[in-house]
Amino acid sequence: MRDIHICEVGPRDGLQNAHHMMPTEAKKRWISALAAAGLEEIEVGSFVPPKLIPAMADTGEIVAHARTLPGLRVVALAPNLKGFERAVQAGAHKITFPVSASRAHSLANVRMTPEQMVQEVRKCRDLRGVEGPQIEGAVSTAFGCTMQGEVPEDDVLRIAAALAECCDCVALADTVGYANPAQVRRIFARVRKEIGAKLEGAHFHNTRGLGLANALAAYEEGVRAFDSSMGGLGGCPFAPGASGNVVTEDLVFMFESMGLATGIDFDRLLAAREALVNGLPEEPVYGHTPQAGLPKGFKRAA
Ligand SMILES: [Zn+2]
Repeated sequence: MRDIHICEVGPRDGLQNAHHMMPTEAKKRWISALAAAGLEEIEVGSFVPPKLIPAMADTGEIVAHARTLPGLRVVALAPNLKGFERAVQAGAHKITFPVSASRAHSLANVRMTPEQMVQEVRKCRDLRGVEGPQIEGAVSTAFGCTMQGEVPEDDVLRIAAALAECCDCVALADTVGYANPAQVRRIFARVRKEIGAKLEGAHFHNTRGLGLANALAAYEEGVRAFDSSMGGLGGCPFAPGASGNVVTEDLVFMFESMGLATGIDFDRLLAAREALVNGLPEEPVYGHTPQAGLPKGFKRAA
């Protein structure tokens, strides 16, 4: 029984923003080690045009490998209909669409307005057969945007509500690491009121060191599904020197030490961290718990 569901997004969010390329075979070893540590869900890649993001060119092969790992839910990101079709063909169990609440970010990233992007998701939902993959709508830049600055909460609410109508679940993402805990509580509460149980996931970056604080704030608003990346991989293109996503190792430690089961074994998680470092030796990795070790007498949540 897991109290908390963690989706490891390092192979996608981390590697996509990393300065170095991880070879395909190393990716497979890393993902296998993550699954062996107890990660039940891994976002393994993104079906974007390979010319745009070369680090994601092998996503089809990576999805095929991840599908051989028992019990693992394989997640892939798709920015549009074409990406969705490739993800379905590859056999992803869950496909995530990032939909920016910021108009400026949406236009720059996918050359569509947020409303057009919702239409695109709706088209994909209509194409999906009965046996098709789960579709998640992730509201990105939900807490602020590097281009637009403030993102009105009403815009976040509107996009989340539109996505709830055509997706199996909705997540809120602090794409650029602007969120603070008070804001997280307020926006999650407002969106929860609007779309209820369809609101599932939280995706935070640790750009300004508030990743764990924001995760805890979301937990207190009833969120039980979190994205994180091993070693806080990936950095932030807008903040040189900053870490990427919330660090998986620290997130696991926080919840386990609070008595909340994640289903993840810490020693095996460190073995997966080794697989990451071996596959990408020049890339900086972060994390307090891996550096300090577990406290004396630490017990995993039952
Ligand atoms: Zn992200």
